[in-house]
Amino acid sequence: MTDWGPMKPRPDPPTAALDRLTGISGRQDRLTHTEHIPSRPARYADWPAGLRPEVLAAIAASGIEQPWTHQAEAAKLAISGRNVVIATGTASGKSLAYLAPVLSALLEGTEAKNGRGATGLYLAPTKALAADQLRRLGELRTVAEQAGPEASRLTRVRAAVYDGDTPFEEREWVRQYAAYVLTNPDMLHRAILPGHARWATFLRSLRYVVIDECHTYRGVFGSHVAQVLRRLRRLCARYGADPVFLLASATVADPGHSAERLTGLPVAEVTDDGSPRGETVFALWEPPLTELAGEHGAPVRRSATAEAADLLTDLVLDDTRTVVFVRSRRGAELISVIAQERLAEAAGHAMARRVAAYRGGYLPEERRALERALHSGRLLGLASTSALELGVDVAGLDAVLLAGYPGTRASLWQQAGRAGREGTGALAVLIARDDPLDTYLVHHPESLFRQPVESTVLDPDNPHVLAPHLCAAAAELPLTAPGDLELFGPSAPILLPQLERRGMLRRRGGTTWFWTRRERAADLVDIRGEGGTPVRVVEADTGRLLGTVDAGSAHTTVHTGAVHLHQGRTYLVRELDLEDSVALVAEADPPYSTVARDTTHIAVLGTDRQVAWGEAGLHYGSVEVTNQVVSFLKRRLLTGEILGETKLDLPPRTLRTRAVWWTVTEEQLEDAGFLPEELPGAAHAAEHASIGLLPLFATCDRWDIGGVSVPLHPDTGLPTVFVYDGHPGGAGFAERAFERAQEWLSATLQAIAACECERGCPSCIQSPKCGNGNDPLDKQGAIRLLSLLLAGAR
Ligand SMILES: [Zn+2]
Ligand SMILES: [Zn+2]
Repeated sequence: MTDWGPMKPRPDPPTAALDRLTGISGRQDRLTHTEHIPSRPARYADWPAGLRPEVLAAIAASGIEQPWTHQAEAAKLAISGRNVVIATGTASGKSLAYLAPVLSALLEGTEAKNGRGATGLYLAPTKALAADQLRRLGELRTVAEQAGPEASRLTRVRAAVYDGDTPFEEREWVRQYAAYVLTNPDMLHRAILPGHARWATFLRSLRYVVIDECHTYRGVFGSHVAQVLRRLRRLCARYGADPVFLLASATVADPGHSAERLTGLPVAEVTDDGSPRGETVFALWEPPLTELAGEHGAPVRRSATAEAADLLTDLVLDDTRTVVFVRSRRGAELISVIAQERLAEAAGHAMARRVAAYRGGYLPEERRALERALHSGRLLGLASTSALELGVDVAGLDAVLLAGYPGTRASLWQQAGRAGREGTGALAVLIARDDPLDTYLVHHPESLFRQPVESTVLDPDNPHVLAPHLCAAAAELPLTAPGDLELFGPSAPILLPQLERRGMLRRRGGTTWFWTRRERAADLVDIRGEGGTPVRVVEADTGRLLGTVDAGSAHTTVHTGAVHLHQGRTYLVRELDLEDSVALVAEADPPYSTVARDTTHIAVLGTDRQVAWGEAGLHYGSVEVTNQVVSFLKRRLLTGEILGETKLDLPPRTLRTRAVWWTVTEEQLEDAGFLPEELPGAAHAAEHASIGLLPLFATCDRWDIGGVSVPLHPDTGLPTVFVYDGHPGGAGFAERAFERAQEWLSATLQAIAACECERGCPSCIQSPKCGNGNDPLDKQGAIRLLSLLLAGAR
């Protein structure tokens, strides 16, 4: 719909660009794999019956003669009243597929004689994305206006953003008159649902709920959003509405199932992508080992950041329009600064100015200007955090560099999908970071190219998530059995009596629960947070509140002396005051990052599931993790060198969560010739590498999970390795690990065995978040231990 206009075609195919990158001396060995993904022609269908002629006229005027097959199919399902999730590639026109039926319904509403016509609700994970949708809608309206009287009737549909930035004087207007309201789950949770009486006419007329980028609702956040959506459905039902849910997702495995867990409703899936694609050459790239020594003298690989800056320089010199995706804003800035310096040397300052960094938090106009600069070719290179995925339109590039695996195959394809236009090829390069997962991936292309993308993991039944939503729901309208209990899932009947005992809810008449407390029930939970009093991050000199950090991670991320990144800026923590839950910080630019060291103990509370792998055992259940942050290390930027350790004085914290753990027996170890002193290093190394590889099997981040390895655990009586969910009550990651344990642990074994280092390095068994300073670690021991474990797994 807002596809960029004509671009000048690339001078040559993507293979030529790659050949030039590898042609530079000393680089031949860094290319570990080249995947050719063939082009795919477009497939078209007719729009289904039931769409308004004004909408079709406006779409035609915007230059789209005929929809692609998946757009037509999704629109048809939506018109027939089916909930539907569209999970197709980047730039495959998902917005249009749901906008066509939604705008048709809303347009009918504008002709309603009395009362309010049909309404629609659009949910995006970020404010920027909702604002972007409104802009796209505005563009369609402008096209419609110019296209003649029929299409111009589309402008009668009133759309508005309703979020934290909406001025209070406008909010009333939006509630009363907007037909299409664009917002986010936070606003739904904190404002719209608790204030539903004021939204009564809007909710009564609600025909469609659009959930954009629904794959971002995963883990704990996704579980919260799932409960917010149940609260929305409950209120709609009370007002007599039964909206159809339309979801748009990146390509993920089993999108229908994920959408069903998210909405609690049956959802049809549309996955057969009819949009065209140019040829893509996808290269896997491993930076070389350097002369530098890291922890315990381990070899250090050249950083993905430094390598990406070099490749960006070469591509820009080649007139190839390129975006680099990198995790942190700092990384984005480093890449752009290095590339600018190299370009200035090679081709002068004018060339250097054609590369920029994208910093989060830009105003919409600034983002549009950036898009235009890239489009016109004035800007040839951009280094960006993945924040750009949400909010800036950069489809149709010549090349995409990924500085590090973005965490999931879904994001990988989403980022790589920014390259390529119809009729022209594209180059994508994944540059491995120095960690076990990235290293594994660039040596196992089949795990990227021959595997379906992962499905979205969420667990709405987590009692830690559900409890506050039951309170919020009761505050919105008293909860009644049995209907409401069914809606909120199997944990609800167990939780209600507990909430009653804690004085949170009051039961009357046996089957109705009320919220009678003074405070706002919706304030009980921050749906993006973890529970517990969040720690406020305050600028020491100005007293300005920068933001908050979850109680659960404060000790690790904002301890005294920590380097803390907030919205891309770097701060040094002067003091963490636990009593007042405040961290005092000052903006700084130290040449190092910090990593906390901790001690962790784990107790088994109960085992839910287990399987025997011969003598060895695999278990899943509830645990209590006690963690104490004891010191922190300073690590030099870019090179990763360790600069020193500082002690901290912080109290222990406990976390009740879910874990997967495996055990082997003393006999097994003896038979395999293990010496007792070898076990701690072997188990610890296996634990690290397995945490590194788990994101390949569950859509988690390495930082979402933790691990403990114990040569003799008091609860199991055996050598045991635990991997636990880092969130209270668990987020589904440990459960997924249990279900896919054989594949997961086999990949772990392969990753360690294949690493070219001698005694362990960050690419295999060292962990950047190790609380024990990566000591002890035994690479060969880990290989033997995992082989032993997996021998019985059949
Ligand atoms: Zn290694
Ligand atoms: Zn460790």
